[in-house]
Amino acid sequence: MIIKPIGTGSALSKRFFNNNYLIEFENYKLLIDAGSSLKYGLQAADVSYGDIDYVFITHFHFDHAGGIEELLTNNYWTFKDGKHSPKLTKFIILEPQVSNYNNLLSPGLSNQNMCYTDYMETIILSNQSTLQISSYEFEFIDTSDLHCLGMQSYGIHIKNRNTGANIIFTSDIQNLEKSSIRERINDYTVAIFQDVSFSYNPVHAFFDDILLYYPKKYYSLLYLMHYGDDIDKFLPIIKNYGMNVVQQKKDLNLL
Ligand SMILES: [Zn+2]
Ligand SMILES: [Zn+2]
Repeated sequence: MIIKPIGTGSALSKRFFNNNYLIEFENYKLLIDAGSSLKYGLQAADVSYGDIDYVFITHFHFDHAGGIEELLTNNYWTFKDGKHSPKLTKFIILEPQVSNYNNLLSPGLSNQNMCYTDYMETIILSNQSTLQISSYEFEFIDTSDLHCLGMQSYGIHIKNRNTGANIIFTSDIQNLEKSSIRERINDYTVAIFQDVSFSYNPVHAFFDDILLYYPKKYYSLLYLMHYGDDIDKFLPIIKNYGMNVVQQKKDLNLL
């Protein structure tokens, strides 16, 4: 499985694109989050909208969901030999997220006798939080209220069903202590993708809290992401603790 960072920056970053990732495995490409800078991030990573098979949106901030409508419109209005041959991207949707999709996409796409769901293939997960796609299991971690109070949000735990190797993706989170992230780490965990802020931030994990939350033996598994434009000055301290920083154009071959 290859993790391709499409963007690694914080919501307001001017240097890095939004924190979105393309997961490539067994001929499939799954996009985690589609922020408003998605088209530029994809272009820089040499990926086209049509390459994307699956999408999962962790939460509905603009840096994670602002690019969905363009992705859908682009893939739907695909032509082959002058003939309309829409690509319906598969959207993995947890049942509690349905109203968010309605609110975000209906104004632009539910018209002309169409509904926004005509532009996608929906995989709605009701009463379950896991999905298996070939050798991999995707478990969605409910982090609602732990990023923003009153907001729905999810992390992802991806496991290789043959080897047990797994990675944890926190997406945006502030209150690590109330999450189940630490309890999920086991001997087969190869990476934890963790958002980070180097000054106190009411909605993101503060570096000092990350140091306290994770046992030292797991520091080397941490891949920090969703960082600000001033990340360079913190690289020595991150290195000192043996942690990693996710970087654009540096694909990670994990699992
Ligand atoms: Zn964000
Ligand atoms: Zn957010």
